[in-house]
Amino acid sequence: MAVATGREYGLFIGGELVEPASGDVRELVEPASGAPLAKAAMGGDQDVDRAVEAARAALAGPWGKTPANERGRLLHALADAFVANRKELAELEARNVGKAISSVKAEIAQGVENFRFYGSAVSSIAGRSNPIGGSLLAYSLKQPVGVAGQIVPWNYPLMLATWKLAPALAAGCAVVLKPDAATPVTALRLAELAAEVGFPPGVVNVVPGDGPTTGAYLVRHPGVDKVAFTGSTATGSEVMRLCADPIKRLTLELGGKSPNIVFADADLDSAIPSSVWAIYYSAGQSCEARSRVLVEAPLYDEFVARFSEYASRVKVGDPLDPETQMGSLISTTHREKVHRFVEGGVEEGAEVVTGGEPRDGAGAFYPPTVLAQVENRMLVAQEEIFGPVVTVIPFEDEKDAIRIANDVKYGLFATVWTGDPARGHRVAARIESGMVGVNMPYTGFPGVAFGGFKQSGFGRELGIDTLDLYLETKSILVSTSPKPINPWAL
Ligand code: NAD
Repeated sequence: MAVATGREYGLFIGGELVEPASGDVRELVEPASGAPLAKAAMGGDQDVDRAVEAARAALAGPWGKTPANERGRLLHALADAFVANRKELAELEARNVGKAISSVKAEIAQGVENFRFYGSAVSSIAGRSNPIGGSLLAYSLKQPVGVAGQIVPWNYPLMLATWKLAPALAAGCAVVLKPDAATPVTALRLAELAAEVGFPPGVVNVVPGDGPTTGAYLVRHPGVDKVAFTGSTATGSEVMRLCADPIKRLTLELGGKSPNIVFADADLDSAIPSSVWAIYYSAGQSCEARSRVLVEAPLYDEFVARFSEYASRVKVGDPLDPETQMGSLISTTHREKVHRFVEGGVEEGAEVVTGGEPRDGAGAFYPPTVLAQVENRMLVAQEEIFGPVVTVIPFEDEKDAIRIANDVKYGLFATVWTGDPARGHRVAARIESGMVGVNMPYTGFPGVAFGGFKQSGFGRELGIDTLDLYLETKSILVSTSPKPINPWAL
């Protein structure tokens, strides 16, 4: 595969890669090997100013006049460009994040479908007319909210960039996207492809940089009308605070500690391998990772043994090997954090059944880890570990399962495994989370709203309703009466 490593990436502002005013250019490394990957510019305040100006100019210029069907055509063209460049994008992402290329390919395929979904969904953007009676004509217009400041984390840098960009562009917004400082390269390639397929200069701007400085500056920027943030709950809370004074429109996609509930009547030949996938996919660095497996008590020992045996068989290694199922973590620093959680869990009384020790050698590898004898009050069951660590917790009956599932501050996703369809629906309805899978582990389908309850955030991505988060509704009232309007008979 030929891939542009060793390249120096600028910031993407006004339709081209530019030097950073900040002068800050950093070396990026591959987390799976520690080898240098590329150099990338980081934006500072002045760079954010330039990007927001470019976005505002695009809205005031041709982009603001681009009709919905043309925006849809451009999104479909961007989907085609993704397909044409998928090998390069996949290799870049796998090397930058350390993630298995087999996973990255699926994420890119989803990104393509996402552009297509919103490329077609533009035709649904329409106001309505209201029969309010008399001689009044009332109708509404849907207008783009303006410039969207979008912030994404390092765990799915490219896929989440497509989640953010597609509905914003469909709605007619211009965007300044800030990827994480560690993982900017694929979002920059995405911006280049957007320019190549014909998005006018300034519609898509990408300014990587540090969160507390560049990210916070973007959030506070008076030229940004709406903020869409994906990241941790702690940072989301800070972003919400920054949006409060200027009353900015805001959506938050935050952390999770999602339950995976296995009833004794479940088909274990599906439930066990799917539950293994649902935590170790992306090395557990997923907001919707099902990191708490709740198992009906009579099944507990058998389940833990079989789950752990499957977990120890997950192929961990070189992200570029097509056979690899789990790559490295994002950094050795993050791996230390994950390992401290495991050690803390053991101190609280959990038992390591498999994994639990960092792998020797280069690269931020950590093995699939199973913690058994976990109680839901323990820190390992309450906090997002964001690594390949599952906690297995027993429950007594349906009521107990729902109680434990809901006993966390998060509410992003849940999976229920049962042979009783009625119970599947009943439990799904009572779980406090934005999404529930019944006998099905997968997430993230374009057209199916994705987002959280409780401290997992608010607003939804991937859904048709997501368009509304980038649109303002303007009501227009018109008198059609030939008579003069003189309310006080003056
Ligand atoms: P993080 O909150 O540290 O960083 C996320 C992004 O926010 C980065 O781009 C970072 O630079 C930026 N940032 C940091 N501080 C900021 C500030 N003060 N102002 C503005 N921007 C700031 O999160 P992370 O550790 O990089 O990512 C992992 C987290 O993201 C996990 O909690 C995970 O669950 C969550 N996540 C949620 C979803 C979802 O859809 N719900 C998807 C993926 C990841």
